[in-house]
Amino acid sequence: MESAVKIAFIGLGNMGGGMAANLVKAGHEVRAFDLAEAALERARENGCATFTSVKEAVEGVDAVVSMLPNGKIVDAVYAGDVIGHAPVSALLIDCSTIDVATARKVAAEAEAKGYAMVDAPVSGGIAAANGGTLTFMVGGSGADFARAQPILAAMGKAVIHAGAVGNGQAAKICNNMLLGASMIATCETFAMAQKLGLDPQTFYDISSVSSGQCWSMTSYCPLPGVGPTSPADNGYQGGFATALMLKDLKLAVEAAHAVGAQVPMGERAEALYQAHADAGQGGTDFSSIIKTLG
Ligand code: NAD
Repeated sequence: MESAVKIAFIGLGNMGGGMAANLVKAGHEVRAFDLAEAALERARENGCATFTSVKEAVEGVDAVVSMLPNGKIVDAVYAGDVIGHAPVSALLIDCSTIDVATARKVAAEAEAKGYAMVDAPVSGGIAAANGGTLTFMVGGSGADFARAQPILAAMGKAVIHAGAVGNGQAAKICNNMLLGASMIATCETFAMAQKLGLDPQTFYDISSVSSGQCWSMTSYCPLPGVGPTSPADNGYQGGFATALMLKDLKLAVEAAHAVGAQVPMGERAEALYQAHADAGQGGTDFSSIIKTLG
């Protein structure tokens, strides 16, 4: 194990709760802060020390890790309570999924005050956060990546350097845009195959070893009873919520427009997931979109 360090953890919700617990299990001293009392209670049960403000939590730490809902909150927390309050030697690691522009702005502001900061969004849901099997995509300098690596390794199965600051977020939204579009393509294809008279299991057996094969089909099949166990086998409960997929697609399309990238499939996926969320399916797994494509 890497030597234990003192880490402030900000945002102990569905994802951050399990991540902080894994840092404690790895021997680190974790100083937790969240706005929600229930999150703090769980953090205490998992061995974290809890504090009543970000400013207190970051006192004297070696690193700050955050797992917050969006870019606006990340910006406010770092600008208001972390920068200038954590020791300047502390490495700042934001694991939230936020827009690339805000990630780069917050890191530049931190750097201007002498801090090192990386963006390290994750692939993997609540089960991976609890189980310590997340994949981290890290944006930052090589030296800062090397400092972040052992801390992130305590919470994940893979820690990958994506390039300069902001590139972690870029990798995350590019990956999830591909996932959103490929899930919809998988769903409409299964629905069409059945209408053409193909048995879904037979089509799976053929396509899963043919050129149409993709992760949405062979690891997360949207049809119950076909392929490995997935949220489809559990009434589309658990898994990756439609609302979170929609959040990532919005970030992806916004980033595409900012750099003039053509993303017709990404835009269509965003519109279809928006309609699915508007129909009251924001809380169900994103593969439930198959129900609208029958
Ligand atoms: P969540 O809403 O469960 O947790 C967010 C936590 O942040 C809450 O406990 C909230 O009280 C706290 N918080 C909000 N504002 C705060 C502030 N100013 N100071 C301190 N705490 C504050 O969300 P989550 O599902 O844990 O997601 C966190 C991040 O991880 C998001 O950016 C999300 O997009 C990303 N993510 C989520 C999943 C998933 O499957 N849930 C997967 C990958 C990435």
